[in-house]
Amino acid sequence: MPLPVFRFAPSPNGFLHLGHAYSALLNFDSARAGGGRFLLRIEDIDATRCRPEFEAAIYQDLGWLGIAWETPVRRQSEHLDLYREAVEKLAAQGLIYPAFESRAGIARLVAQRETEGPWPRDPDGAPLYPGSATLAPEQHARVLASGAPFAWRLDMAAASARAGGLSWTEQGEGPDRQTGTVTAEPQAWGDVILARKETPTSYHLSVVIDDALQGITHVVRGQDLFWSTSVHRLLQKLLNLPEPVYRHHRLVLDDAGQKLSKSTRATGLRELRAAGATPAEIRRLVGLP
Ligand code: GLU
Repeated sequence: MPLPVFRFAPSPNGFLHLGHAYSALLNFDSARAGGGRFLLRIEDIDATRCRPEFEAAIYQDLGWLGIAWETPVRRQSEHLDLYREAVEKLAAQGLIYPAFESRAGIARLVAQRETEGPWPRDPDGAPLYPGSATLAPEQHARVLASGAPFAWRLDMAAASARAGGLSWTEQGEGPDRQTGTVTAEPQAWGDVILARKETPTSYHLSVVIDDALQGITHVVRGQDLFWSTSVHRLLQKLLNLPEPVYRHHRLVLDDAGQKLSKSTRATGLRELRAAGATPAEIRRLVGLP
């Protein structure tokens, strides 16, 4: 058996809270228990929301918790060319297409469709993309050269037909207690965006590429990302990448039973530390030994 490789992959778009502490500690503890490796990856592709001070705080907060990671840390913003290559591969297979609607344009289209009845939503509750590929692949280069903003969208029908049936091994639990072998349902997401003109990648694309490149064997992350795994399995198949096992863990909720957010001060690690909490108390608060 190869050594297990775990990772914690935060986005530096806010300060870490108890939910991040739980996820990071769970990965770190699992790596230790299995004699494996623990990697930290900074998912900073969104230049408008990510900031150096949040990244610095991630290192500080994780270090304070007693977590040690291998260096150098992989920062996604330093690997955009790699993601571009994957986009080109998918374009060459005719599985993605450029879409030009603005967010407002899409909202108008959805509203129009909704006059005829409910329009389907993705597992996160967002309406599915109401458009479809309108250009022949030979026309892509010409339109892209025109300089208009666009997004590369996955042609979900073509991509899932190409990939065939997919599943993954779930060692944790989905929102409806799914575990064991779970059938992937990428169609539930519609024609997802894989890259944009100004950001040549997306969460879905960069996460599968990096997990493969870093040799991640175990993806341990929050249950809120459970159904994203359907898209990840599809991209792994299309790009010929290995398949890790998945463990989606419970979310740490606030007193009102809501998911924690990066802006809630009461559960921020820096606030708790400033108020005198110890790393051992953080472990106890999130229910870890
Ligand atoms: N960067 C993602 C986040 O902060 C997590 C990605 C993952 O674990 O797959 O929500």
